[in-house]
Amino acid sequence: MELLGRLVEKGLRREPPTRDEALAVLATSDDDVLDVVAAAGRVRRQWFGRRVKLNYLVNLKSGLCPEDCSYCSQRLGSTAGILKYSWLKPAEASQAAAAGVAGGAKRVCLVASGRGPTDRDVDRVSRTIEAIKEQNDGVEVCACLGLLSAGQAEKLREAGADAYNHNLNTSEATYGEITTTHTYADRVETVRQAQSAGLSACSGLIAGMGETDEDLVDVVFALRDLDPDSVPVNFLIPFEGTPLAKEWNLTPQRCLRILAMVRFVCPDVEVRLAGGREVHLRTLQPLALHLANSIFLGDYLTSEGQAGRADLDMIADAGFEVEGAGTTTLPAHRTGEGPGCGTRPAAGAPAGSVCGSAADGGCGSGCGHAVGSGCGSAGTSREPAEPAETTATAATAEAAEAAEPDTAERTVPVSSGPRTDLVTVRRRGAGTEVAPNA
Ligand code: SF4
Repeated sequence: MELLGRLVEKGLRREPPTRDEALAVLATSDDDVLDVVAAAGRVRRQWFGRRVKLNYLVNLKSGLCPEDCSYCSQRLGSTAGILKYSWLKPAEASQAAAAGVAGGAKRVCLVASGRGPTDRDVDRVSRTIEAIKEQNDGVEVCACLGLLSAGQAEKLREAGADAYNHNLNTSEATYGEITTTHTYADRVETVRQAQSAGLSACSGLIAGMGETDEDLVDVVFALRDLDPDSVPVNFLIPFEGTPLAKEWNLTPQRCLRILAMVRFVCPDVEVRLAGGREVHLRTLQPLALHLANSIFLGDYLTSEGQAGRADLDMIADAGFEVEGAGTTTLPAHRTGEGPGCGTRPAAGAPAGSVCGSAADGGCGSGCGHAVGSGCGSAGTSREPAEPAETTATAATAEAAEAAEPDTAERTVPVSSGPRTDLVTVRRRGAGTEVAPNA
């Protein structure tokens, strides 16, 4: 059976591809990109129909971080001209969140820069969560505060948090090249703490940091093993004033291949198109909706996104629909346990059948990028998905056959200088007196 046809069949059965198959998806040529999107799109529609979940970022605390994550505009030593401010008050954060909810967001992602919260910070965020829940009926809240200490996940859960985001970002083998002030293992441990506390885990990656295809496949399979409910896929926003400012390694087609690979590896998990979609996918953004079932509405943590109205128009024009508050995001087989988002597989489900969101360069170490995530705590379970046909087209198979098997070091720089025309620092919304764009 040809590659794409085989991967569709596996995806419909919630089985992962092999590592070589995942690499082969990344190695397909630009000529074949529509076949790749069509194949992975069938898997996306099987588990999520045409629904698109909207998530809204609120940057509770911006800049001034002591950590050195190379991709992040809020890092130690960053000279990016971003907004810098300390903790928003609960009422301010709730007001910011309400703008996103009014725009159609089902989830609010509360992000704060820093290595991790103090217990006092957790108390402050807890009051913020309570204020948002009180003022926005049915909204999901995800916290993204960095590395957690013992007992903090439980406190956030008690305050009403539905989810916690902390991204792995890149492969374990290359993590030390991206960040030196904490480790990959630290990140894994925080995701596990969130899961243990009953929070829906959101954990994803950042592509475009100079990594190889092997690195991308490694981190996506590691995410699958970690079993988050939502997986945000960020594309590096190369901020001037950060070490990765010149890393313009992505093309729209490569972004689509990466999203397709993530969909094949994590077929029934909320895959969120996160930071960098406007910058790297540009006019091809609508094609990505065939792969991801979740996006951020409006701006990111420290950079501007497309206007919220443009996001909604794009979704409608592409034939998709915004997921309502009364719909559970994840398929029924993943909602048996857990807090609302529930994505653990039901008893007896095939092993390894699950996987699991972040934003523009920020924190919690993941959200910073633009990150996001997804649960489905409100509303009714959706109907079991209809079985889908599994035959791949000959053209699709041929395209896959033509794929190069080895893809290491395959990224092609498309620019070597800053692109201030594409990256705009956020100067509206949370932390400012200017209305947000949601
Ligand atoms: S990603 Fe988070 S921890 Fe890393 S530098 Fe940015 S704000 Fe700090």
